[in-house]
Amino acid sequence: MRRLLVRLPNWLGDLLMARPFLHALRASCGDAELWAIGTPASRLLDREQLWHRWIGLDAAVSMRDAHSPFEGLPFDAGVALPPSFSSAWMLWRLGVARRIGFASDGRSWLLTHAVRRPARGERHLSEEYLSLGESLAIGRVELPLLLPGDEDRAQASARLRRLGIERAPLAVLGPGAAYGPAKRWPAERFAALGRRLIARGHRLLLAGAAEDRDAADAIATVIGEGAHTVAGETSLSEQLALCAAARLTITNDSGLAHLAAAAGAATVVIFGSTSSAWTSPLGPRARVVQRAPVCSPCFQRTCRIGYRCLEAVSIESVERACESAAA
Ligand code: SF4
Repeated sequence: MRRLLVRLPNWLGDLLMARPFLHALRASCGDAELWAIGTPASRLLDREQLWHRWIGLDAAVSMRDAHSPFEGLPFDAGVALPPSFSSAWMLWRLGVARRIGFASDGRSWLLTHAVRRPARGERHLSEEYLSLGESLAIGRVELPLLLPGDEDRAQASARLRRLGIERAPLAVLGPGAAYGPAKRWPAERFAALGRRLIARGHRLLLAGAAEDRDAADAIATVIGEGAHTVAGETSLSEQLALCAAARLTITNDSGLAHLAAAAGAATVVIFGSTSSAWTSPLGPRARVVQRAPVCSPCFQRTCRIGYRCLEAVSIESVERACESAAA
């Protein structure tokens, strides 16, 4: 093969769960040129040199324009990691010869290799991604940590200095989850846990995306001195460095959980309506807390019966997981 194309997942968590596949593909592709199409967030993986050329999703979507980056370039094979119709359609439109992806969303006719998926949670998502590489005969490789660069570390250190907390043991709290409230542990428990951590000498960063800012601010206000909100202020690279510098990251099942785990940081992840068997973060020091009632996993964004899965997660069970992760 001379040229391969990978359509990367859009969600940060899915992207990081695709790393075993991407590393395996890179190790197996020999002299072939590897191209990737993804959202700007996927540039976080530039540091791993997993591809020769990266194209932004917006540019790829406008591929019929005169300035299409793909003009006249034949691809021998392409893998659509997202299960969406549009990602398979993109491979087809680009004239990719072997088009590989999950058999889903009524798109199998667009693919030359439509791979059937097991029921959600039967296999970890990273294993499902690896199964897409079987027809390309890719092997497996050991997954390296996703380490921050020097510049990212310097940026994180400067922020901690500005906040006056560069010497204290640091805990990152991630109370957000874009998916919906059925993934969010109650804010008052994050606040109570935060107060206990501060009593033990920690300083706290309330982290997340811009849309998590208000919730993070509210929790920081309840906790009081020693809690600082950085949600919406950091790039993914700086957030990676902050997690790597922290003693602990405690977060809902969100992109932040996958980021901290990938860095090899001590990470405690609280699961609600979704399946930890399917999408637990990959990392040697990641610990999951899930108390699944009979209705779990329902994969719903909101709950009509009182969020029992999240209510059942006690502060003490999260503290025990913290001890295990940080040991
Ligand atoms: S239905 Fe069950 S698993 Fe789903 S959010 Fe509600 S309590 Fe949690």
